[in-house]
Amino acid sequence: MCLRPGSLLQPTFATSAMDTPNPTSRIQIVQGDITKLSVDAIVNAANSSLLGGGGVDGAIHRAGGPAILAQCRLIRESPDYRSGLPTGEAVITTGGLLPAAYVIHTVGPVWHGGQRSEPELLANCYRTSLALAAEHQLASVAFPGISTGVYAYPKKEAAAIAVREVRQWLAEHEFPQQVIFVAFDTESKRLYEQELAK
Ligand code: ADP
Repeated sequence: MCLRPGSLLQPTFATSAMDTPNPTSRIQIVQGDITKLSVDAIVNAANSSLLGGGGVDGAIHRAGGPAILAQCRLIRESPDYRSGLPTGEAVITTGGLLPAAYVIHTVGPVWHGGQRSEPELLANCYRTSLALAAEHQLASVAFPGISTGVYAYPKKEAAAIAVREVRQWLAEHEFPQQVIFVAFDTESKRLYEQELAK
């Protein structure tokens, strides 16, 4: 599904969590700009400062306005996050002016060749983000390809981890009821489709 600029995606959730034994039926793939999605939460591929950056992070702060940054600053003032959000962890803020009610910020690993726990850290991003969504009983959550931009994680391997972790989570939890993988380009869309077909 492609999004026209300015259009809002309103995913249709035909099935409830309780009657979907196959978690794949609770997963959608869309291609487009995550800031346009009308979902309960979008996930931000943030950096550990939580104070904004480029890529999807910049797009989210630009579209969501200053309320998101204000909450990120408050989070940074808490003792747990004085030196930033550790890689693999996640926090939640308002969605500000976004169509999404919340933004879940997580810090993906920088790709260094795969020998520095990158797969485990990336899996943690998905799990901690999903745990926050479940804690807040959010029905729908959209993920960008965490770490697959500036952080240079190979897209195929990242898609495999994303699909594996989300499937496992959905098999074991009622919330979130729907997960949307947002592909920013056609190659990423194809990679998610391939993983979901397995
Ligand atoms: P990271 O630093 O974690 O690699 P980036 O923001 O550089 O984060 O990229 C993460 C992914 O998000 C990349 O696949 C990039 O193409 C994608 N992306 C960038 N902007 C958007 C957007 N507005 N909506 C959805 N995905 C986006």
